[in-house]
Amino acid sequence: MSTTARAAALRSRTATADPIELEARHGAHNYHPLPVVISRGEGVWLFDTEGRRYLDMMSAYSAVSFGHGHPVLVKALTEQAQRLAITSRAFHTDRLGAFLEALTRATGMDRALPMNSGAEAVETAIKAARKWAYKVKSVPEGRARILVAEGNFAGRTTTIVGFSSEAQYRDGFGPFAPGFASVPFGDAAALEAAITPETAAFIVEPIQGEAGIVVPPAGYLRAVREICTRHNVLMICDEVQTGLGRTGAMLACDHEGVKPDGLTLGKALGGGLLPVSAFLARADVMAQFTPGDHGSTFGGNPLAAAVGLAALQTLENEHLAERAQREGAHLVASLRALRHPAITDIRGKGLLVGVQIDPAFASARAVCEALMAEGVLTKDTHHTVVRLAPPLVIERAQVDQAVAALGRVLERLSQRTITPEPALH
Ligand SMILES: *Cc1c(COP(=O)(O)O)cnc(C)c1O
Repeated sequence: MSTTARAAALRSRTATADPIELEARHGAHNYHPLPVVISRGEGVWLFDTEGRRYLDMMSAYSAVSFGHGHPVLVKALTEQAQRLAITSRAFHTDRLGAFLEALTRATGMDRALPMNSGAEAVETAIKAARKWAYKVKSVPEGRARILVAEGNFAGRTTTIVGFSSEAQYRDGFGPFAPGFASVPFGDAAALEAAITPETAAFIVEPIQGEAGIVVPPAGYLRAVREICTRHNVLMICDEVQTGLGRTGAMLACDHEGVKPDGLTLGKALGGGLLPVSAFLARADVMAQFTPGDHGSTFGGNPLAAAVGLAALQTLENEHLAERAQREGAHLVASLRALRHPAITDIRGKGLLVGVQIDPAFASARAVCEALMAEGVLTKDTHHTVVRLAPPLVIERAQVDQAVAALGRVLERLSQRTITPEPALH
């Protein structure tokens, strides 16, 4: 077959073949998506290839906090793309400074270092903490230790999965980087007991997202702050998922009036359009980086900076943290009002909500598949939790639609599950 004939054959096959089948045949099988093929998004809505409309109660793990195709953000993206997109950090650009200024002002941190993915922001935090430990805290070279919380999720690099407590994330991927130890999440006394003179930092999510939307006891972050200060250990909050309005405040740390020494942001920072992340820190921590110590070809590129700046402005202009607080409270109250026996727990803050499903009743995956048929898309986490974390631009009627759909799904599934021991429920 000639090259053009082969290209034509490939084109026609690709146009008609089932996209799910193509992924399965040509891709790595490292995800298990719901069986739906999305081809368009607008605000809180997603549309599949057959034109069916779904309410997005997932928002790409907070990456789409502003909704799909937010007009202000798309405008910032397209205008910047036409002017200047990528330069590397070999040169200054007229976009980066304003983005960094907005980032530090929005978070109250001294300095920001832009990266792309959340995992890279966490890797940056690890490097900063280690170097600070050697140069400022005088920890003997090679001895710095970083504490993390059990149940953490900080991405998928080899260093990061090395300190995961999830067996599957580690299995087959070692050897791992030394220098990490974990303590139970939500237990400030356990943190203090684990600190040694060689401890550089404690990295913690204010609410553990991937672990199943786990909220620590009230006062935990304040206690961690106090312990870290007393022992000269950096408190680094991983707010890649909880930051930027998701929990009803700019940062989830703000709920306890706590200011960390280091902070990672990502996901929503890219406005639902690009991967944009950042590590932010106290001046003396960030001062450890000198030219050549760290970097990324794409980190802080003009396109990312323009979109990131517009995202921070939109968050403020549209009062999205307040909306997350208000609609999140309504979402939780409505879920409680369902009083469904299959729901064993409802937890979260703002529009980061997890609904724990009794596994004897149905898997969270089965609930998500049934929700899909009801026109609501979300994903289970840890087999028993249905996550409800829509774009922050969601309207009251749409929250109600999601809760009503969940109510119908649970009703239908409970009729299907004929349990011989109703007392279990
Ligand atoms: C998603 C997430 C990350 C990793 O972000 P990626 O962009 O997927 O690398 C890090 N920390 C937390 C808390 C996250 O939720």
